[in-house]
Amino acid sequence: MVAGVDVGGTKTLALLVAVDADGTPVVVDREQVPSDANSPEVVGSIVDALGAVLARASTPVERVGVGLAGLVDLTGVVRRAPNSAGLNDVDVVGAVSAAVGLPVVTDNDANCVAVAARALLAPDAQHLVAVTLGTGIGGGLVVDGQLVRGAMGFAGEPGHMVVDRNGVPCPCGQRGCWERYASGTALGRLGREAAEAGRGTSLVTAAGSVEQITGEHVTTLAAAEDPEAVVVLDEFADNVALGLANLLVVLDPEVVVVGGGVIAAGERLLARVRSTLATEYPHAVDRRNVQVLGSPGGPEAGALGAALIAAG
Ligand SMILES: [Zn+2]
Repeated sequence: MVAGVDVGGTKTLALLVAVDADGTPVVVDREQVPSDANSPEVVGSIVDALGAVLARASTPVERVGVGLAGLVDLTGVVRRAPNSAGLNDVDVVGAVSAAVGLPVVTDNDANCVAVAARALLAPDAQHLVAVTLGTGIGGGLVVDGQLVRGAMGFAGEPGHMVVDRNGVPCPCGQRGCWERYASGTALGRLGREAAEAGRGTSLVTAAGSVEQITGEHVTTLAAAEDPEAVVVLDEFADNVALGLANLLVVLDPEVVVVGGGVIAAGERLLARVRSTLATEYPHAVDRRNVQVLGSPGGPEAGALGAALIAAG
């Protein structure tokens, strides 16, 4: 028995997971608490959610895995988290293991999604890319069957690949990062821009005002076939395809997994991403057989992967 925690921008989820001998995970309990990744109190939310499932566990829990947004170094200290300021330079391993009395491992949240996706969707895949489109964009890369961590543990951060050097400023200090165009945050911005240009009447009605339009309004209305929201979602999908094309030419994966809050848009988003890859980026997709899939486990994929990393 292991536990996995996923620390999101606004909530923290802990799972209790039984892993059988061939590595198949079964979720046996869950606890979600509200949290604010920009507040130092976010570590307390990890301990609260985890404490709840540990208290209810009927068999001993051996280890805990925690998935975090941002650059997590090889010792478990968060070194740079532009979208989770409350975690900057926090020793999450030390703080959480002291609080719960168990060994703790941490990893980047998109690495966790990559591990869960491989276990559940593509156990034979040796080359897999996972991207999580949420507040920012996380990335998890499996190459030759292994998670790629890099020299410091910071590898797989495609959200800060620059796609326009004169582009939108990013909290990381660069301009034109991919996540400014293809994260959940970016989807909200595209919705607001469409509304300001008079092409988002239904978005304004749903949100109450232009300023209040979020990515969720766009995905909800697009799912209901609202034509203006569909145009915004299609533009967004084209931005997603742009970054994926760059990853394909560098990494040549068999499977690309798309997760994060934006995946609520489901097949409508994925179908447009696939068709744009095929039409706009022939060099990236020709002679390959890449599958572009939605992440498994829905919003629990990150916590599930964290548990699998803890299980080793
Ligand atoms: Zn950036």
